[in-house]
Amino acid sequence: DRIVSSEANESDQQIELSLRPQRLSQYIGQQQVKDNLKIFIEAAKMRQESLDHVLLYGPPGLGKTTLANIIANELGVNIRLTSGPAIERPGDLAAIVNSLEPGDVLFIDEIHRLSRAIEEVLYPAMEDYCLDIVVGKGPEARSIRLDLPPFTLVGATTRVGSLSAPLRDRFGVLLRLDYYDQQSLVEIVKRSSKLFEVDIDDKAAEEIARRSRGTPRIANRLLKRVRDYAQVIGDGTISLDIAKQALELLQVDRFGLDQIDHKLLKSMIVQFNGGPVGLDTLAASIGEERITIEDVYEPYLMQIGLIQRTPRGRVATKLAFEHLGYTYHETK
Ligand code: ADP
Repeated sequence: DRIVSSEANESDQQIELSLRPQRLSQYIGQQQVKDNLKIFIEAAKMRQESLDHVLLYGPPGLGKTTLANIIANELGVNIRLTSGPAIERPGDLAAIVNSLEPGDVLFIDEIHRLSRAIEEVLYPAMEDYCLDIVVGKGPEARSIRLDLPPFTLVGATTRVGSLSAPLRDRFGVLLRLDYYDQQSLVEIVKRSSKLFEVDIDDKAAEEIARRSRGTPRIANRLLKRVRDYAQVIGDGTISLDIAKQALELLQVDRFGLDQIDHKLLKSMIVQFNGGPVGLDTLAASIGEERITIEDVYEPYLMQIGLIQRTPRGRVATKLAFEHLGYTYHETK
C-alpha cells in the first residue's frame, strides 16, 4: 500500500472511526460546503421535512463519508450505509429502503457504480418515496408498489462525470469537496494529535500537513506513523526534527510525493523530453494501467501544477523539472 494513497486501507478504518468529526462544527475547512449544508439542514428541521437528496463529490479521503454521518447527526436521524457495488439486485435496495424510519439518511458510497437496473428502481424512490417491484416470473409476474417513508439519499462519488444525467438531476443539493488548504490540514493534524493524546509542535504539524496532498485521510495516516516514530526514537513528543526524520524514512517528499510519483514524473521528463506524451504511452512506459494514472496518480499532480493536460497529451511543467532537479526547457 502506498503511504500517500488517498484510498482507505484496513488500518485507516480503525483510526478513522476515532478521529471522525461528529458535528458540523468539528468539520474543518470546506467552508462553502458547510455554509450551504447548515442552511439546508436548518430549513428541513424548521419545516419538519426530510432533507433534499444530497450528492457529495470529490477525490477520495476528503470527508464525504464523514459528512454523510454529520448530516444524519445534525438532523437527529439514523443513517444506513451502503455502496453502489454492494447493491446487486433491486431486492437488495428494496430491503434497505424498506427498513428506513421517516427522515433517515441513506448513504450510498460510489454511487456511480450502481447498475442501470438499480438506478431505475431508485428514481421513484427518490422522487415519490415509493418502489415499484416486480414479483413472480413470466406470465405470473406483476408489479407492486411499496410506499416508503420520506428519506434523504446522500450519494458520494469520486467521478461525478460517470453519473447518469437522470440520476444526477434527482439530487437537490450538489456539493463538491476540494483538496484542503494548508491551514485546514494543520488544524486537522492538531485536532487528531489531541485525540491521539500526543504533543506536537506547530512546525511539525505544518510539516505533516504540507506533505498530506490536501487530503485529511493522508494527514491522519502520516500523523499516526510519525507518532509511532516519536515514541520509539524520541520521547513521544512530535518535534519538527522528529517529523522530518520520520517522513524521510517514509519516503514522502516535501510536496507529499512518493517513489511512484517520482517515477512517473521522471519518465515524462527523461524519456519523453517533458512531453506532450499520450496517457497510454506513459502508462506502458511505467508499467501501470491508464486508468490508475488518470484516477489515482494524476489528479493531485495536476492540482499542484506538476503536470498539465494538453490536447496532445500530458506535459511536465517547469515546477516538475525543478522539483526533480532537472534543468527546464520548453517542450515542443
Ligand atoms: P471519503 O468518504 O471522502 O473517502 P472520509 O469521510 O472517509 O473520506 O474521510 C477520511 C478521514 O479523514 C475521516 O475518517 C476523518 O478522520 C478525516 N476527515 C475528513 N474530513 C475531515 C474534516 N473536514 N475535518 C476533520 N477530519 C476530517
